[in-house]
Amino acid sequence: MLITNARIITPAGEMRWMSIRNGIISALGMGEPQATSDTQIIDVQGMTVLPGFIDVHFHGAAGHDVMDATPEALEGMAVFSARHGVTGFLATTLTNPRGALTRALENVRDCMAGSVKGARLLGARLEGPYLNVEKCGAQNPEYIRTAVPGEALAFLDLGVLRIVDVAPEIPQNEWLIDECVRRGIRVSIAHTSATAADVVRAAARGATQSTHTFNAQTPLHHREPGVVGAVLALPEIRCELIADGVHVHPLAIRIVWMCKKPDRLILISDAVRAAGMPDGEYSFDERKVFLKDGAVRLPDGTLAGSCLTMDRALRMLMGVTGEPVDSLWQTASLNPARALGIADRKGSLEVGKDADLTFVTDNLTVRLTMVEGHIVYRSDS
Ligand SMILES: [Zn+2]
Repeated sequence: MLITNARIITPAGEMRWMSIRNGIISALGMGEPQATSDTQIIDVQGMTVLPGFIDVHFHGAAGHDVMDATPEALEGMAVFSARHGVTGFLATTLTNPRGALTRALENVRDCMAGSVKGARLLGARLEGPYLNVEKCGAQNPEYIRTAVPGEALAFLDLGVLRIVDVAPEIPQNEWLIDECVRRGIRVSIAHTSATAADVVRAAARGATQSTHTFNAQTPLHHREPGVVGAVLALPEIRCELIADGVHVHPLAIRIVWMCKKPDRLILISDAVRAAGMPDGEYSFDERKVFLKDGAVRLPDGTLAGSCLTMDRALRMLMGVTGEPVDSLWQTASLNPARALGIADRKGSLEVGKDADLTFVTDNLTVRLTMVEGHIVYRSDS
């Protein structure tokens, strides 16, 4: 397959054509491509081609939630996210009792073995229960607990977790950071009342990420920089951001960009069941949430995930920073791929990598999404 007449954004600059063989990018170039008579040629008429977006923090969408623990839920999420340019995602759990979490993780394991339509299911992420109840946000405080080896090791042993969220200031959680690092599972600092010193200690133990930076974290004070100050200042920490203009003020988005550009900012959706649905009431574990004015909230007003999509997040980052897509693309693909340790095969458009592609217009409207060379979404217009 040969993609021509394109504006292909690569780490080495812009290219004009790309050939794909067996789902892998086999060549990229500027001049006239070599085509044989049996080559399938796709002329994309000047459209921009980006590496497919990777959403490492995705709870649900289109009426589905990871905690439903059904293949239909994961498939519904995969199909929905592909419409927004996502080619890979982590199924992210909510803080729940052990049985519900085990069922959700087993479902991810079973679906990874089979084939899910749409974006590729890249594994699971455990957001809770090992958090700090003081910064629970919309995570159910009833179920937040410390990391007990019997339970936590059983979760890790299922073999699907790629990221585990941990409040590092809780002494009983420290061993879990070490155990995740030993297994190559990334630790993200989350829902936490930590001091800056606690964060420095967690980073020294091997934590590499900050979960939805600014949200559910101790704020920056100039004499106690808190979690926010520490994760912005430490170069080894990648910062997730919910760039919907609701969770984080546009100026705060710019602060994260200024501290972390170009390769340490990770856009996430943090989307939940209500994403892509009409305004109204939705279930969120055994509680209710309301989607209204582009925000999902518990009855008391607490934000409960988002209805954000990755294409909109990237568009918001472009608007807020005034930077072109050429300098921002990696926040939605390469940086999350690096966070997952899969940047050798995903996250950027280079020869030898998977043909995970998102075709967008100048205003970043997704027209076509391809996973490993297969078209998983094509817009009608
Ligand atoms: Zn959260």
